[in-house]
Amino acid sequence: MSEAVDVVVAGGGVAGLTAAWHLARLGRGVTVLTGGVPGGHLLSLERIDGLPGFPEGIAGYDFGPILQEQAETAGAVCSGAELTGFARAGSLLRVHTTEGDLAARALVIATGTKLRRLDVPGEEALRGRGVSECASCDAPLLRGRSVAVVGGGDSALQEALTLADAGVAVTVLQRAPELSAKRDYQQRLAAHANITVRCNIAVEEILGDDAVTGLALRDIATGATERIEGAAVFVVIGLRPASAVVATSLACDGADAIITDAALMTSQPGVYAVGTVRAGSAGQAVHAAGDGANVAISIDRHLSGGVA
Ligand SMILES: Cc1cc2nc3c(=O)[nH]c(=O)nc-3n(C[C@H](O)[C@H](O)[C@H](O)COP(=O)(O)OP(=O)(O)OC[C@H]3O[C@@H](n4cnc5c(N)ncnc54)[C@H](O)[C@@H]3O)c2cc1C
Repeated sequence: MSEAVDVVVAGGGVAGLTAAWHLARLGRGVTVLTGGVPGGHLLSLERIDGLPGFPEGIAGYDFGPILQEQAETAGAVCSGAELTGFARAGSLLRVHTTEGDLAARALVIATGTKLRRLDVPGEEALRGRGVSECASCDAPLLRGRSVAVVGGGDSALQEALTLADAGVAVTVLQRAPELSAKRDYQQRLAAHANITVRCNIAVEEILGDDAVTGLALRDIATGATERIEGAAVFVVIGLRPASAVVATSLACDGADAIITDAALMTSQPGVYAVGTVRAGSAGQAVHAAGDGANVAISIDRHLSGGVA
């Protein structure tokens, strides 16, 4: 095992990179396992709303690299490896990664969330062939075509607006009787000629052989079934914590979110959780960033022999 680093941060989203930045500013040695391209969910967004200092929002593909550069400039070291688990090794933690083991004095889990699946026929078979997770990536390819966005919350409507702004005809399919997104998003949606909203609709199947050609739908109120055409479908029906690699080692709630105390420490001393993988996270980027800044102080105290 390598020489011990003060802290390993697992996750290259806004929570993990803010934690790494603040830990480095406090003089701590930090290695970040980004698990791929840094930026997390925000990376693919055309416009991140709700961040202080950006009244008109900022694109995720601009924001992600800034977060990484800020952390690296302060002294954090980023690696594309993934966390696969951890174990205790005396007073240290042995952090298992896809590129070997690291020794660390503390570990931060900042692995965020994954999009929930519809779990209907066609969804897995057509993933990447019309079943998409990134509206801003695919919008230019879909200009002039019809697509469906499944879901009625803030994130679903954001993706619908990104597509519609790029000239894509969007049908929003919501299972509940009404949309649940904030009024601001609903107003922007209502003002958009390219978007149709249908509530009380369940998706029963995603259709297509080599690529998505449409959807089989059922009206929940009447039971009537129909098929609609579409070149792509974006499923944005909620998020689940990406806690699987540590779920057997740490206490989690019924939704698989990692439970922490006020110092953001988990059920294992020296192991912390921040951002949307944490139970009780309010879910937005500003909260995840706040967790990152707060955990840096907790860990600094912990490693100095203080209370946290
Ligand atoms: C469609 C959509 C739109 C949104 N719009 C907004 C918005 O406008 N404003 C806003 O404030 N919030 C928005 N959010 C919420 C926002 O994305 C989250 O608040 C934020 O991304 C949480 O950051 P995080 O760092 O906790 O997790 P994530 O962004 O999920 O990042 C987690 C990171 O961990 C990595 N990872 C996962 N597993 C491992 C592993 N085993 N090892 C190493 N790394 C791993 C992932 O690759 C990822 O980089 C939106 C979310 C979605 C889905």
